[in-house]
Amino acid sequence: MFTIRTLSDGDFLYASGRRVDYRPSPHKYAGFPAQARRLLVIHYTAGREASGAANWFANPSSGVSAHVTIGRSGEVIQSVPFSDRAWHAGKSRWRVRNDRLTSLNRHAIGIEIANAGACRKTEAGHWKNGLGVLVPSDEIVVAPHKNGSIYFNANPAHGVTAGSVATPGWATYTEQQMQVAEKLATFLVGHYGLEDVVGHDDISPGRKSDPGPLFQTESFRDRVFGEGDEGDDTWKVRDGTPGGLAIRVGPGKDHEKVQDDNLAPGTVVEVNQTEGRWWYVTVLDANGDDEADGWVYSRYLERA
Ligand SMILES: [Zn+2]
Repeated sequence: MFTIRTLSDGDFLYASGRRVDYRPSPHKYAGFPAQARRLLVIHYTAGREASGAANWFANPSSGVSAHVTIGRSGEVIQSVPFSDRAWHAGKSRWRVRNDRLTSLNRHAIGIEIANAGACRKTEAGHWKNGLGVLVPSDEIVVAPHKNGSIYFNANPAHGVTAGSVATPGWATYTEQQMQVAEKLATFLVGHYGLEDVVGHDDISPGRKSDPGPLFQTESFRDRVFGEGDEGDDTWKVRDGTPGGLAIRVGPGKDHEKVQDDNLAPGTVVEVNQTEGRWWYVTVLDANGDDEADGWVYSRYLERA
């Protein structure tokens, strides 16, 4: 779905062959040496709409930017070419392999996700973030942050009172933006050979709370790097399958067996491909390592 094209003014994102909306931000350092570009940092905008964030990044007085922003419907706006360094991380540090990196604007591509973030209930009973952005209560999940309490500055015009909140409300991410975030992160990691995906709250703990507890950075990172999360496609041979389950070189009973021994009941397999009731699977041993590949008749499988 995503590609990058190198134009005269830098590397730009294309979605399904079309260049995404570009609203250039003046807040960037020119150039991004390939060997310095190592991380992806996820943020939330603290606002509802991607366009508001992109306009703020384009505003000469903001002094901030990110490479791209993902809106509530999954739309993407680019603010800084990937071949320049955006101003999204600030004071920050992270360890990548054996290198202690600091000031991560020098090392990280930044993705913003349109989301109001941490909210506090006003005296009138409305959920608002520290900037006064109102979030409907059915889009709020109350949860602690892994780094501790969230401090809200007083915002009298919006009825937000000052103070520390141990379990604030958090604006939910939409399904569309999470899907786009994962696809885009996976694409960028592959395209630029990035080595890690982190939240702003990982690299600037205490100072930053985005993307917050509703963005599960660790499982997101595992999916982006293709690790873990085999649950969806992991099956096992049903108990009581007579004689075990034959595993064959092709989809059908006429094909030769891959091995003489049938798969014993309880054997775990990962499904790679299907053709009707015949599924092409990888047999996993107890450690989850690959043992053999072949076709099996899926009626004798159940969810692992
Ligand atoms: Zn941030």
